[in-house]
Amino acid sequence: MKHQNIVILGTGGTIAGRAASASDNIGYTAAQVGIDQLLAVIPALADAGPVITEQVAQIDSKDMSFAVWAQLAGRVNHFLARPDVQGIVITHGTDTLEETAYFLQAVCKPAKPVVLTCAMRPATALVPDGPQNLLDAMAVARHAGAKGVVAVCAGTIHSALDVQKVHTYKLDAFSSGDAGPIGYVEEGFVRLLRNWPLAQEGRYPIAMKNIATLADIADWPRVEIVMNHAGASGAVVEALLTQGVQGLVVAATGNGTLHHALEAALLKAQAAGVKVVRATRCLNGRVLPKPDDTLPDSKGLSPVKARVDLMLRLLG
Ligand code: ASP
Repeated sequence: MKHQNIVILGTGGTIAGRAASASDNIGYTAAQVGIDQLLAVIPALADAGPVITEQVAQIDSKDMSFAVWAQLAGRVNHFLARPDVQGIVITHGTDTLEETAYFLQAVCKPAKPVVLTCAMRPATALVPDGPQNLLDAMAVARHAGAKGVVAVCAGTIHSALDVQKVHTYKLDAFSSGDAGPIGYVEEGFVRLLRNWPLAQEGRYPIAMKNIATLADIADWPRVEIVMNHAGASGAVVEALLTQGVQGLVVAATGNGTLHHALEAALLKAQAAGVKVVRATRCLNGRVLPKPDDTLPDSKGLSPVKARVDLMLRLLG
């Protein structure tokens, strides 16, 4: 059977990292190896059908910017529209992968697969994990019926909505929390546990012309994350208010609880017109809404994804 193209977009990350020594898995510089060089060391890719490659960015994803997001969304939409393209694989750093995944799902709502993949070890490692992750991502992009933005790492497929980095060092660094993964990739085969993400998982669509316009602009809506903790106060919120913050996500404790001083400051911000959203700093579970809530909850989104969501809503 003649395969359609898979587009592989490089953005950097540890998967493209280089260390001085092969035994060094942490003292490396991310985003050094180009996407074509990364693919060249994976002979099995030769059997995986035709690919088109493009280096969209070359950055450590800790430095992810709105400009790169805008550029990436533009390229994703461009290639998704081509009838000869079956799906897209994106190499990305692990640090902000979940934010990019949520952003792309919200903005592009792809009916084809868009598969983010990554590595916890640099390309120069004695036993790098990037090549296997890339092969697995290709298998997902080629899988009939696959759609939406997903992340593939350590043989596991996570949805953009649920994926979270949960480990600083292990190769299996991601979790889908309560929801569980979409499935696994085993020897090139996808074993599905649940459905592919639905288009509505990006709940706040934004017109691509806005995204393109904003590519060159540094000031997307300013949305900051503040956290509830023992001894919290309203000081950070007060300071952000004086700087003209437009949105605030609070990483609340437990089921959305807030220190009374922080809550008072957030209510003041909300009354002043700032959009405030309550997420939880708990890794699992969601903030369950109550009838007397004065600050809206994040509808299950983690603080970082709730921030992306709020920015997109303010943009929209
Ligand atoms: N700092 C790296 C990045 O996010 C970490 C990684 O890729 O694992 O680009």
